[in-house]
Amino acid sequence: MANQRYDVIVVGAGFAGVYALHKLRGLGQTVRVFEAGSGIGGTWFWNRYPGARCDIESMEYSYQFSAELQQDWEWTERYATQPEILNYINHVTDRFDLRGDIQLNTRVDSAHFDESTNRWAVNTSDGGEFDAKYVIMATGCLSSTNLPNFDGLDSFAGEWYHTGQWPHEPIDFSGKRVAVIGTGSSGIQCIPLIAEHVEQMTVFQRSPNFSIPAHNQPLDPDCVRERKASYPAFRAANKETAFHANFDYNEANAVDVSAEERVREYESRWASGGLPFLASFADLIFDADANATAADFIRGKIHELVDDPATAALLTPTSVVGCKRLCVDTNYYATFNRSNVTLVDVSDDPIKTITRVGLNTATREYAFDTLVFATGFDAMTGALAKIDIQGLAARTLQDAWKEGPKTYLGLAVAGFPNLFTVTGPGSPSVLTNMLPSIEHHVDWIADCIAYVDRKGVARIDATPEAQDAWVAHVNEVGASSLYPTCNSWYLGANIPGKPRVFMPYLGFPPYAEKCREVADSGYDGFTLTARG
Ligand code: FAD
Ligand code: NAP
Repeated sequence: MANQRYDVIVVGAGFAGVYALHKLRGLGQTVRVFEAGSGIGGTWFWNRYPGARCDIESMEYSYQFSAELQQDWEWTERYATQPEILNYINHVTDRFDLRGDIQLNTRVDSAHFDESTNRWAVNTSDGGEFDAKYVIMATGCLSSTNLPNFDGLDSFAGEWYHTGQWPHEPIDFSGKRVAVIGTGSSGIQCIPLIAEHVEQMTVFQRSPNFSIPAHNQPLDPDCVRERKASYPAFRAANKETAFHANFDYNEANAVDVSAEERVREYESRWASGGLPFLASFADLIFDADANATAADFIRGKIHELVDDPATAALLTPTSVVGCKRLCVDTNYYATFNRSNVTLVDVSDDPIKTITRVGLNTATREYAFDTLVFATGFDAMTGALAKIDIQGLAARTLQDAWKEGPKTYLGLAVAGFPNLFTVTGPGSPSVLTNMLPSIEHHVDWIADCIAYVDRKGVARIDATPEAQDAWVAHVNEVGASSLYPTCNSWYLGANIPGKPRVFMPYLGFPPYAEKCREVADSGYDGFTLTARG
């Protein structure tokens, strides 16, 4: 296949890749997008499990780059389902005529920087050879599934599924004995719905999680009209908040108010539902005493919702609220009141092997027809680590990140010129409403590319000094919070052998300010090399 040249190659066709294509094409760049999947949508293409839906309100979990799109699209529910979000991104792709530049079923295997031409050589799984001045990794923070390395999976006689690679055809669970392994957001969303159809469900829980009821409902047309009437102001206000989302932030500290006031606040948040629970008090994620009041409140709710006290105790986390990603559910805890659902705690008796007929823990044997792995992702770095990326002096990204990911602003990596990451480690990404954070990154990258080209620059590379200072700052801010205190995927703790580093940057407004300053200064912290 002949070598094909583009200005920009984008890897991934989720929300980030699709918007990057639109934005850069608008700047007159020639762009090619490669997507490993057979359709666009990223997260919403792959995660088709029963109950999959967003837990940021749909009128916020949507693009804002086009006022007309924002006005025209009609979301139907407070939290959109996976099929509705997938329809939306397909609509956007067609509306802006993007499909022709997206090559599906094509995995990018390698990207090597050629120092003599200042261009990237990109190889794809179908034998394609491409080159481009810029590469944008829109590969997703939660796109590389984690299937624990249990011995014997090949011998299992039944069917097994991972929530993050769910089949496109409906699965008939009726009459089946089903095991669900994992109780993070994906498990918590699918367990109640799958339980309605199975003969018997056994949930294998290694750690319990805190979950807040979604109280999902159809959108009220009057509220939709009201929001649409002031959409830009609503979006602008959200940009000024820590989570880049409309969480109705309470400025008070939990430790400064009375116990009665705390309970009033938590009850009101529980009644309205969802992630805004995290914004109950300003010190919730920073002060262990404050956090304990929220944790105790949710623990009480779990005991109210679950009939059997022993099961309720197993479902009750002892950890910090929000330190692992807070979950949002519909009927999760109550599902354990069903006679066909059993909870098995594997914290001290881990799953050891998958057998022909089921699975074995260290001490017990279980028989199943179907296994559902809701075991999450190699988050933030997993998809990038699977690509052979080589920068200056042929240094690989895997080598550069062997002690943990290092980036400048989560957007660039020193020694890997003209390469950008969307919502990379070191940016607020997964601690925010990701859609506006994706748009923010793509806009920044597009401005940077336009500047570099305008100035006749051949190569832009983050300096190691700027990167080190940024990484130190990310760590310092993370360490001021309670986030590093538990074994979460934010820290890479879910993947054996992964360096333990708190990967996201906490706080959207100071982050956006820093990005603005860097751009306004002519890209302070980067080395710009003119065309030779
Ligand atoms: P993705 O959607 O992950 O897309 C990346 C794409 O890159 C994938 O399609 C992948 O196949 C492709 N790719 C990766 N490597 C290669 C390669 N080498 N070659 C070719 N293609 C490649 N965020 C929120 O803010 N709110 C939510 O409510 C929310 N809910 C979520 C629910 C689930 C089940 C999951 C898993 C995540 C959720 N997220 C949520 C996070 C979600 O990932 C982001 O909101 C957003 O969809 C990410 O978009 P993206 O384009 O950056 O990445
Ligand atoms: P996750 O949060 O990492 O949960 C994985 C679960 O699998 C955990 O309970 C984990 O236990 C368990 N597990 C992993 N390996 C195991 C093993 N060997 N034995 C037993 N249990 C094991 O993954 P996820 O649920 O897919 O969610 C990932 C992220 O995607 C979320 O945090 C969220 O950001 C996003 N998401 C959002 C939604 C939404 O509501 N919008 C839905 C799904 C996903 P431990 O906790 O002990 O590691």
